[in-house]
Amino acid sequence: MGHAKETSLDGRTALITGAGSGIGREAALTLAAEGAHVVVCDRDEESGRVTVEQVETAGGKAVLVLADVSDDDQMRAAVEAAVSHTGGLHILFNNAGIFPEGDGSPVETPLDIWDWVIDVNLKGVFLGCKYGIPAMLDSGGGSIINTASFVAVMGAATSQIAYTASKGGVLAMTREIAVEYARQGIRANALCPGPVRTPLLEEFLADPVQKAKRLVHIPMGRLAEADELAKAVLYLASDASSYVTGTTFMVDGGITSAYVTPE
Ligand code: NAD
Repeated sequence: MGHAKETSLDGRTALITGAGSGIGREAALTLAAEGAHVVVCDRDEESGRVTVEQVETAGGKAVLVLADVSDDDQMRAAVEAAVSHTGGLHILFNNAGIFPEGDGSPVETPLDIWDWVIDVNLKGVFLGCKYGIPAMLDSGGGSIINTASFVAVMGAATSQIAYTASKGGVLAMTREIAVEYARQGIRANALCPGPVRTPLLEEFLADPVQKAKRLVHIPMGRLAEADELAKAVLYLASDASSYVTGTTFMVDGGITSAYVTPE
């Protein structure tokens, strides 16, 4: 093994869903800084455009592709557009996800909220893989990173039942994809963030009581910053993780290791 920079992504294309905000935007900046041609995919045109501008201002390459990840035709078209703009697909970061109000206990959660969350968080990842995998095989293989969450492996008494179920599905699906495609040069890992300071959580954690309730379970005693997730994405996307596949990749400040946390 040489000591060439193994995190270099020169010549590779990375499709990132939900790249208009939070972890997705930060990952777009990080992967582009390592040389990837980033396909910024979001349903929101304005925020996607801002990510593209930020990547370009930093000297990187990015293109915007609008798609709702839960829509079959739009995801097929997004992958086709990614390949036609950049010439291939090597990294697929299925990151788009929602955490809507109304998702609570199994008894209270309305069916339309359940369907919406499962459609975006679980079907969206499935569709990304459905169309992304053939494009990656055509490109000689690559790395899939699917965003689950620490709630895929931990239960909370304050449930968000559709979100938790969707993330458990992402975790199980990712393992199976990892096993099925390992010998064809595709790695797949489930990124499991702990709570991250992004717009997704901001509204929820604006309430100091809710925030304190969450922080008490985190050994590090703080939320993650989006760039701390982006660095994990870079590792999983690049050859630095060449023997890593099928993992439940925790980036959670120690939450899933804790029984009692320090005061
Ligand atoms: P965010 O809300 O900041 O950004 C999500 C992005 O996804 C937005 O740009 C939004 O427009 C886009 N999006 C939403 N629905 C979409 C759809 N149907 N099609 C296309 N794009 C869509 O969120 P974030 O905090 O960066 O979260 C990113 C991922 O990380 C999500 O899957 C989330 O569940 C997961 N996650 C977040 C946390 C956290 O604490 N923030 C913790 C664990 C897991």
